Amino acid sequence: MFEILRKIWQTGTVTKRQPLAEAAGKYRGKIELDAAKCNGCRDCVGICPSGALSGSSDRPQIIIEHHKCVFCGSCADNCEQRAIKMTNQCYLEAKDKQDLIARIEVSGEKCG
Ligand code: SF4
Ligand code: SF4
Repeated sequence: MFEILRKIWQTGTVTKRQPLAEAAGKYRGKIELDAAKCNGCRDCVGICPSGALSGSSDRPQIIIEHHKCVFCGSCADNCEQRAIKMTNQCYLEAKDKQDLIARIEVSGEKCG
């Protein structure tokens, strides 16, 4: 922290805007789940290598912990309902980790 403050003091400059306006179209960024398409099978939970996805058999809900995602795309590639897609959102910063956790209620016909 002190080092950063020293550099700002020396150079008189700070980064005021994000370096990229938008990531390239094929960039694999934050995942997006369409609750209307999801049937609650939880296949994506089983395939996720980083434990970013979870859900229980007694509740039609998928939880996405975006801070754990490694953007491999396996969930999107393997969802038979095409309910998950990769977006090109590359800026995921948040002051509170809770803001990176999404709890999504789904139709859940395969839950239970
Ligand atoms: S997103 Fe796809 S793989 Fe995951 S629970 Fe829903 S339907 Fe199943
Ligand atoms: S993109 Fe990969 S790491 Fe991220 S939620 Fe999907 S399977 Fe998990």
